[in-house]
Amino acid sequence: MRIGAHLSIAKGLPAAAKMAADIKANTFQFFTRNPRGGKAREIGVEEVAVWEKERADGDIYPIVGHLPYTVNMASPKDEVYDFARQVLKDDLVRCDAFGGEYLVVHPGSHLGEGAQQGLDRIASLLEEILGPWEGKAQLLLETMAGQGTEVGSIQDLAWLGEALGWPAKLGVCLDSCHLFAAGYDLRTQAGLDHLLGELDRAMGLERVRAVHINDSKFPLGSKKDRHAPLGKGHIGEEGLSLLINSPHLRHLPFLLETPTKDYREYADEILFLRGLIS
Ligand SMILES: [Zn+2]
Repeated sequence: MRIGAHLSIAKGLPAAAKMAADIKANTFQFFTRNPRGGKAREIGVEEVAVWEKERADGDIYPIVGHLPYTVNMASPKDEVYDFARQVLKDDLVRCDAFGGEYLVVHPGSHLGEGAQQGLDRIASLLEEILGPWEGKAQLLLETMAGQGTEVGSIQDLAWLGEALGWPAKLGVCLDSCHLFAAGYDLRTQAGLDHLLGELDRAMGLERVRAVHINDSKFPLGSKKDRHAPLGKGHIGEEGLSLLINSPHLRHLPFLLETPTKDYREYADEILFLRGLIS
């Protein structure tokens, strides 16, 4: 199985490959640039060459970029929308340049303008960017908790996919904490089946390409996006076990985004997850 965590590439891609090895991860996610700001680190050809070798040696697959939280494709503010366009365009190219398979983005927040207005803005931006995109990296829309004026329910993502005609370069990334906060009870088999059925009817399970595996600090349906360490939140060990063992999901990369002070702490959580595999 593919299990990994969110790591930093601030010290270079080869350093990130080493970190993945340290925590026994065979996939990882990284921020394409500062999550709260906008500056991107230059990645040179030499770094890419070393990285490609380390990646092959460590059997690391897939690599998932995550766009910064400042990207809001639903924003009614022109400068914010323009920034989203620029970052999306640039980071698809950057991710592709070193063989990154996926780029995850939070759809955005409509900031009071109404969900449909927000979705329309997202669809037109995605159309503009993905239409001419010929690289290999795929863009994944993440399922959100529904905090504030956030869009990103399963229905929202299905609507966006349909508006674009579901191109192969567009997919979906699930987040267990966000889904639980949005009201999907992942603690029981019936709850998980309900989620999978809904995904299948809305978009087809083949659109799902990655899973963020996090526990939730807040209870079911809280609409709060606050990740907890695995087994220490409201989803709990049983729910996480159902998720990772689901025959519909287990072929996907599972990525941890749980709170840690140091990336080495992920080693225990990865071990914990591997221990749940039946
Ligand atoms: Zn995310």
